[in-house]
Amino acid sequence: MKFYSINKQAPSVSFKKAVIQGIAPDRGLYFPERIDALLPSFFEEIGTLSHQEIAFRAIRQFVGDTVPDEKLKSILAEVLDFDFPIVEIEENIATLELFHGPTMAFKDVGARFMARCLGYFSEGTNTEITVLVATSGDTGGAVANGFLGVGGVNVVILYPSGKVSDIQERQLTTLGQNVTALEVDGTFDDCQKMVKTAFLDGELLGRMQLTSANSINVARWLPQLFYFLFAYRQVKQKGREIVFSVPSGNFGNICAGMVAQRLGMPVEHFVAATNVNDTVPKYMLSGEYRPKPSTATISNAMDVGDPSNFIRIRRLFGDNFEALTRHLSSYAFTDKETKEALSKIYLDSGYIADPHGAVGYLGLKKYMKTNSGVYGIFLETAHPVKFLDVVEETIGHVLDIPQQIQKVMDREKKSIKIDTYQDLKSYLLKGLQAER
Ligand SMILES: *Cc1c(COP(=O)(O)O)cnc(C)c1O
Repeated sequence: MKFYSINKQAPSVSFKKAVIQGIAPDRGLYFPERIDALLPSFFEEIGTLSHQEIAFRAIRQFVGDTVPDEKLKSILAEVLDFDFPIVEIEENIATLELFHGPTMAFKDVGARFMARCLGYFSEGTNTEITVLVATSGDTGGAVANGFLGVGGVNVVILYPSGKVSDIQERQLTTLGQNVTALEVDGTFDDCQKMVKTAFLDGELLGRMQLTSANSINVARWLPQLFYFLFAYRQVKQKGREIVFSVPSGNFGNICAGMVAQRLGMPVEHFVAATNVNDTVPKYMLSGEYRPKPSTATISNAMDVGDPSNFIRIRRLFGDNFEALTRHLSSYAFTDKETKEALSKIYLDSGYIADPHGAVGYLGLKKYMKTNSGVYGIFLETAHPVKFLDVVEETIGHVLDIPQQIQKVMDREKKSIKIDTYQDLKSYLLKGLQAER
């Protein structure tokens, strides 16, 4: 199996090369050359398979022979050592909880999988790989945790000073070892710009192997398709048409769900729910894609004005707008609507959602108003405690702090402050070892 660049100006590469490079030399995202459906028997017997077995059979064609089967199985066993429960909160409406991992956000699975693949690829070589990533919150923690202690890989995380929550900051600044946090005097967009500049800096690229750990990277993007298979495994016996509503920012998660559908998983429809960063909902109405600067909201992991993976979704449907609209609906919601949904869910069912899950719930409700008779699943992408202030204030109830979070609250923050791209570059060139 090879991956081609969506810009079509670069050669096709193996999974290994796609993971190490992150993005193609022509700045295109990598995309699988083909996606073969799994055997119908896989879906018939899915209820009897373990999570690891399901994941192994689903990801194997993409990884190809770049990771031996036994190694791939052991990587998956480590990555998938927590639960992905479905919780029914209303008749015909359930949530798929993806926050039971170490940093309590759904990015844990992709980050851990990518980390272990990169670790494996760097075994027996003497080139260190540097993972450079900008975060507005959740990505940094998941990446830091996933890569901690992985040999041959150094991780540098840029985050905007004072603009991530206390919990999020501690998750990415307290680990040490091969993880360094750079605290940028600026916004998330400034961090992102510095990272992008680094990836275009010939001098830097000539001296070190740099890669990114956003959902652009196929090793972070593709494992997310497991969630949809795990959900299907739990609700299949209901014998109902399934609709997934996915709170979306960069559209990597939902795109992975659509890959699961391409593998043969029965799905009636997908709903991409967004906050007021509504580039895709607008596109689904007009067929015109108009990116715009992002607006800050209470569901901040989805504050994206130009979703990087949407091009992969379009490619999955052969750039055919009509075909896409048969499978995907997309709706946007304001912070006010999101808070009302948080309260309503809590009052009606006692369930405590987070702002991202609440947006997913709203999207599902809107779709089901005109499409009854389906079984709806919205994804809970983060634990509500990660958005403590807004959730407690909205539902008027104090949350318990889970053990994973409590643990980092007691650790000491360590970061290096930087202001400009030049600071980042000299830090990288100085050598990561010297700094520690
Ligand atoms: C990253 C993130 C999202 C958005 O996922 P995409 O794959 O970028 O669409 C939604 N919710 C939470 C909590 C996240 O961290």
